[in-house]
Amino acid sequence: MKTSTPYHRSSWTYLSNEPASRREIWAAWATVLVSTVIFALAASYARTPLTQFPVFIPIYVTSLVICDLVTAVLLFGQFRALGSVALLVLGGGYFFTAIVTAAYALIFPGMFAPTGLLGSGPQTSSAMYMLWHTGIPLAVMAYARSKAQRPDILMLQMLKLQKARFGIKSTVFLVLLAVAAFTLFATSGHELLPTFLDGNRTTVIGKVFLVGIWMLSFVALGMLWRSKPHTVLDVWLHVVMCVWLFDLALAAVLNTGRYDLGWYVGRIYGLLAAGFLLIVLLSENARHYARLVKVSAELRTANDTLWQISMKDGLTELANRRSFDTHLAEHMAVAVRYSRPLALVLVDVDHFKNYNDAYGHLAGDDCLKLIASALDSCCQRPTDMAARYGGEEFALVLPDTDRVGAAHIAQAVQAAVANLKLPHRKSSTGPHVSISSGVAVMSPGVGMTAEMLIGSADKALYQAKDSGRNQVALIEATPA
Ligand code: GH3
Ligand code: MG
Ligand code: MG
Repeated sequence: MKTSTPYHRSSWTYLSNEPASRREIWAAWATVLVSTVIFALAASYARTPLTQFPVFIPIYVTSLVICDLVTAVLLFGQFRALGSVALLVLGGGYFFTAIVTAAYALIFPGMFAPTGLLGSGPQTSSAMYMLWHTGIPLAVMAYARSKAQRPDILMLQMLKLQKARFGIKSTVFLVLLAVAAFTLFATSGHELLPTFLDGNRTTVIGKVFLVGIWMLSFVALGMLWRSKPHTVLDVWLHVVMCVWLFDLALAAVLNTGRYDLGWYVGRIYGLLAAGFLLIVLLSENARHYARLVKVSAELRTANDTLWQISMKDGLTELANRRSFDTHLAEHMAVAVRYSRPLALVLVDVDHFKNYNDAYGHLAGDDCLKLIASALDSCCQRPTDMAARYGGEEFALVLPDTDRVGAAHIAQAVQAAVANLKLPHRKSSTGPHVSISSGVAVMSPGVGMTAEMLIGSADKALYQAKDSGRNQVALIEATPA
């Protein structure tokens, strides 16, 4: 039997605890490199005005909201499974981004109303943009910090949270509250907002805020870099942060305003940043699903094997005592219910103690195996069962068998063992190994328990022994 199974705990790794392999690190570096080249090319033309496609914004915003929401749900799912607070924080960050983006869509001029919904002013959408872009850097900073904490401290935090579900609900509630409060401020109190955007051009104040957010993202990337060792999730978060920096640099810092090249390319970077982690998480889910299918098939096979082992006698490979008890009880119930006969044969090897003394226990074991297969060969019907009752005693359960049939089988068993012609120099019964059998027959219409039938067969076996061994004795069992 195998000592280690393929579904051993260590083989179940997750993005958030699996150390990144060289392949993943290379893939991540390659992605960053390609993004950098595109950024370098786009940076010099960032201010080039392009055709205005107002439909770009709704498509972009809708895709972002969906990507970020699904990513948040997957991260919350991992938090529930693994209990790491770092994952809750990151999931919260993605949920926050999804909600702010949705709110941004509501107030964006021209999306649902010419000047935006909820009574937004000219600076509201810029303020929402700023808030939206602080979510991921702050979440990554908090993630890097919680990740650095020792696992036992994290477990304590988990205990404080009591339940993972409570942790998720609280995070969702806090995010909704924060976004609602800020949206209310940015719409109803829009006169209080500084001027970030003048027409389609970003003002100096706007640039200051955007550079600030860009610096925040840079610090987040640094903190993530320092939080070693890096897991697979960390490696892809680095990519997300790099792309995020390019997004902000192009779409907010280097460009002049809406609908120029920097603005468009930056937003595409934004979509990529949202999509990367989602794709990595979804591929992980697919990987786990494939593994689950494989492991459940292996578990089924292992269960079948264990079931077989638990029902078989290790030495003789006949049914064991547990299996015998179940089989007898089941078939007695059927026999009583349908008024059918049933016979039980108890077999005991004659002078077996002497056999062991004469030939040793190992030879005794071999002798028991041969007798077991002789017994088994006499069970012809699918419902017949030969079992090892205990020690050198065996039992045959013969459903639907009357006294004539049972006597016939018991004699066949005697003959089968005699035919083995196993020498026994210490037997007073004969030169070969012999057996004695006690048969108890339950006639149709006679109701009794398995214990009663076994008692009768035992009584018959004693009779066979008392009458000189190497013979069959039969008793018509009665409930008394
Ligand atoms: P009897 O004819 O009255 O049955 O005499 P006996 O010596 O066979 O007496 P009994 O049935 O009490 O003997 C049981 C002996 O069977 C004792 C033990 O040494 C032997 N035995 C029981 N289980 C095993 C086993 O698994 N392997 C071996 N080698 N011997 C066993
Ligand atoms: Mg015995
Ligand atoms: Mg015996």
